[in-house]
Amino acid sequence: MVDANRAGAVLTVDLNVLVQNYEFLCREVGENRVCAAVIKSDAYGLGLEPVALRLAQSGCDCYFVALMDEAIALRSILQNSGKQAEIYLLNGIAEGLEADLKHYQITPVLNSLSEIERWAAFAKETNKARKAILNVDTGMARLGLDRKEMEVFVANNGIADGIEFTYLMSHLACADDRSAAQNREQRELFESYRRRLGISQASFANSAAIFLGPEYHYDLARPGAAIYGIQPITNEINNILQVINLKGIILQTRVVDTGDTVGYGATYQTPRTSRLATVAVGYGDGYFRTLGNRGFGYIGTTRVPVVGRVSMDLITFDVTDVPENEALPGSMIELIGPHYTADELAADAGTIGYEVLTGLGARYSRNYVGSS
Ligand SMILES: *Cc1c(COP(=O)(O)O)cnc(C)c1O
Repeated sequence: MVDANRAGAVLTVDLNVLVQNYEFLCREVGENRVCAAVIKSDAYGLGLEPVALRLAQSGCDCYFVALMDEAIALRSILQNSGKQAEIYLLNGIAEGLEADLKHYQITPVLNSLSEIERWAAFAKETNKARKAILNVDTGMARLGLDRKEMEVFVANNGIADGIEFTYLMSHLACADDRSAAQNREQRELFESYRRRLGISQASFANSAAIFLGPEYHYDLARPGAAIYGIQPITNEINNILQVINLKGIILQTRVVDTGDTVGYGATYQTPRTSRLATVAVGYGDGYFRTLGNRGFGYIGTTRVPVVGRVSMDLITFDVTDVPENEALPGSMIELIGPHYTADELAADAGTIGYEVLTGLGARYSRNYVGSS
């Protein structure tokens, strides 16, 4: 465990499990449909290169990223291993990106009339039809043509001359809530836009929407979170397997008297004579400070609470209930794993599993199982 001693914690990413999740989602989406992998933000914090290579090896040939730099990095990773793939850029075409989109063969999602005009102008200039996905806003008020832009676009269809729209796309605001009326409302608005625009292929589903039912799947699904082991629907356990495991190393243990305080601000006072273990992970590693006096770790099957505040590089656990020889300097505490998932940790931290994954620290010793 030399690596753990150097790093403070070991993050294990099981790429075989990740591929099982992806393949399960592909089956849910159905045959003759495309199940892309959303791989933005460093593959949700799990590592763009190892994740992309393993997904590509399993046959995934369609990816979504948010940023142009991510798209370029992904293209070179795939190209270096001889893989062809469709790469879609969610954030669209900022000024001046046209030549790079062409050079790296990235297909943009067009989110506004001005982006449509920009891509059409480039098609004209280069005398070649350009592919794109057209994004319409049906309730997120974030990216995509809004109602007003839709009217202008329908009335001036010619502005898209030279663009081949391969899919019409939209994104749900409340897909994680099965009972939300907005899911159906957004789908109905999406349907009306499809009819008006006459773009036959459609992309609508993120991870959660795949579980809302086949009427949400359409032709191209865009799951991210569920691939990485996050349960997409709140308070619902679907067949998603845990991909990551995070174990922190105990630096030091001590026995403190009843009434002693722990950590910055002295926010925890021991109610009994207690054994404490200090682990070499902190908010500098993305371990949420809100977990102070609220989070847990596990030693074997015994739950050990975080006591006191989380520091930048250190967390203190109460290990009184664990046999002494299982909580010694050098022993490991499960911080995320089978007993305490990223979703459970997120709930205790007051956030969502997505933020836990994308915040996973750069200082962890990373260990990839099943790398291609
Ligand atoms: C991030 C993102 C996704 C993936 O969502 P998950 O909930 O992680 O499955 C899909 N579509 C768009 C537009 C996104 O921004």
